[in-house]
Amino acid sequence: MTFRWRRLPLFFICIAAGVIFLGVPAALIEAQSGLRGFSAAHVDAERQLEQSLRKIPDAQHAEENLKRITLEPHMAGTEASHRLAEWLRLQYESFGFDAKLVSYSVWLPQPTEIKLELIAPQRKSLGTQEEAYEWDKSTFDARASVGFNTYSPSGDVTAPIVYANYGTADDYRQLESLGANVAGKIVLVRYGSSYRGIKAKLAEEHKAAALLIYSDPADDGYDAGDIYPTGPWRPMSGIQRGSILYTEIYPGDPLTPGIAATIDAPRIAPSEARSLPRIPVMPINAQDAAVILSHLTGAKVPRAWQGGLPITYHAGPGESSVHFKIAMDYQQRKIYDVIARLPGADDSEWVVLGNHHDAWVFGAVDPGSGTAVMLETARALGELVRGGWKPRRSIVMCEWDGEEPGLIGSTEWVEENVKELQAKAVAYINTDVGVAGPNFAASATPSLQEIVREVTREVTDPKTGHSVYDSWKEHNEHSVVEANGTPRDQSLRANNDVPLGTLGAGSDFCPFFDFAGIPSLDIGFSGDYGVYHSLYDDFFWMKRFGDPDFTYHAALAKILGTLVLRMDQADVLPFDYFQYAETIQHEGVVLAASAKRAGLSDGDVAPLTDSAAQFREAAERAAPALRALESSPANALQERQVNLLLASVEQAFLSAQGLPGRPWYKHTLWAPGSYAGYTAVMMPSLSEAIEHKDAAAMRREIGEVASALARATARLNEVSRLAQPVASAQSSK
Ligand SMILES: [Zn+2]
Repeated sequence: MTFRWRRLPLFFICIAAGVIFLGVPAALIEAQSGLRGFSAAHVDAERQLEQSLRKIPDAQHAEENLKRITLEPHMAGTEASHRLAEWLRLQYESFGFDAKLVSYSVWLPQPTEIKLELIAPQRKSLGTQEEAYEWDKSTFDARASVGFNTYSPSGDVTAPIVYANYGTADDYRQLESLGANVAGKIVLVRYGSSYRGIKAKLAEEHKAAALLIYSDPADDGYDAGDIYPTGPWRPMSGIQRGSILYTEIYPGDPLTPGIAATIDAPRIAPSEARSLPRIPVMPINAQDAAVILSHLTGAKVPRAWQGGLPITYHAGPGESSVHFKIAMDYQQRKIYDVIARLPGADDSEWVVLGNHHDAWVFGAVDPGSGTAVMLETARALGELVRGGWKPRRSIVMCEWDGEEPGLIGSTEWVEENVKELQAKAVAYINTDVGVAGPNFAASATPSLQEIVREVTREVTDPKTGHSVYDSWKEHNEHSVVEANGTPRDQSLRANNDVPLGTLGAGSDFCPFFDFAGIPSLDIGFSGDYGVYHSLYDDFFWMKRFGDPDFTYHAALAKILGTLVLRMDQADVLPFDYFQYAETIQHEGVVLAASAKRAGLSDGDVAPLTDSAAQFREAAERAAPALRALESSPANALQERQVNLLLASVEQAFLSAQGLPGRPWYKHTLWAPGSYAGYTAVMMPSLSEAIEHKDAAAMRREIGEVASALARATARLNEVSRLAQPVASAQSSK
């Protein structure tokens, strides 16, 4: 499901740079042993272990894995998806893991009939599907799903058409100023700029009768570069499938919000499910969109709305009219997660990894590349075990089903195991779009950003021969210059480090992070990837364009494996709460200023800025205490207490009642934006209250954030107290 933008939007780079890079005093975060989290006594063993692991993953194994994974289309809820889950289970078992299937029964539709035709000003049958190419035999596979958006209701609509650019809130405002009204019409929008579920929600809110979403060649087609099968970009017949579930309200099975979708779970009626869209929606290809757009009259659209098709875009409707019919067979369907465990010496702490295995069609990049890499990582860990190594903490590797329709497999499993996860999971590591090209990219909770940078210094980039970290940094500097044509942002230049993204709702980390408060991260290699969620995201595409020799698959397995070993073996878990505190304090200052502009007083915003400053002070105190604990021999009990407390700081940010209007989302500091979807917003309820200039809500949300920060501060203070070297601890080892 994850989608990484071809070019990072400038605002993202600016915000990330401004928030994250404020200059962390090196003495606060650097380990005395040279390896964060490890005592001098354990550093050499850890380095050797990591080196042994990095010798194991190889390109050929990854290629064989991907070939099997992409053997047949394997959409969630189909027998093929079940077959793949069972194959994955056997693979993990062969590596020495204890692996089982976990099944849920979820409300999941498939389309049974789709019809799209232009009625006026002339009749023409549309709804064309993706073209097959002789070069790539799998594109002829009759089992491939048609282009559809999961969770569209059934419907039959004939109405005039209006074009609304990307279908964002701003676009609807502009449309109104152009004099076009969408009520009762079929709205045509293009992919990009926001999650497709948000496009559906906004169309519904504007009383549209139906929504069509198409892929414009300006965004991921011929304007970007050569199209498939001669290049990696989307051909004119390519369709982007995808869910439109309102995951920003809650992800997972729509009928069991907050609880696991077991066979006998109590279920709400579909009419009560707030995550279900209410107007029919369908994705179409650029060639169908060109036919529709060429018949629209009415106002000429603003310059930025003109896409890459060789026509002048109009808002419509004029005389145009379209007939759109879709029938969906809503029913309970079974999905199958694979949960594979490598027990550690201490099973009270878990390092959890995951990716989904369900795909829209063959899913070579999304998610097959990540799964091929996970298997290589698991094989490497298994070989270390065979050589006599035993993990310190238990390693749990998960292959989720039903991610594409709405993060279902991961959400249900987290909902079922939330208490145990909160007690034991020290981190969740996600890889989804594992390899789409050569450019490393990562998103993480601030406490885990530095460990990602550190680990990428240990692995060689197959193309450049430098470390992945150096290539990542160089590419980032290059794209920042490229994106705006001017020198890099000042703060980025001052700190000179590479930014990570924030965690929204684009993949399976969402339930771990937003619902359970488990520190999470998401990693992969991105690139020129124009066939996202189409028939063409297959083995042929990967072999020809994405990673022809599979060396980036092997590199990612080495990164993933090193990351697992760092988290698994650490004496003191390598969380960086100082960086987290800086991020919070910076955002707190920005939001306090906005709240004041929106009418609040200095006194109103003081709890926010004060609590952020106190959290920072607690982080400042904890950092040297942790470094001291790391470098002094401690007893196992003391380390375990400190580590579990350290991992639980993220949970202190959760509120029991959840966010206003969407109680499933518990994290007060991060959530997908209510009108952004995939993208994370910091202090989401407070930002929304500021946006609405609602003084009472602003005061309430400042109170919520301040209490969350106070809870986290108390935990960090307790960490500092527990981390003090004690006489008995020193003598016990
Ligand atoms: Zn995915």
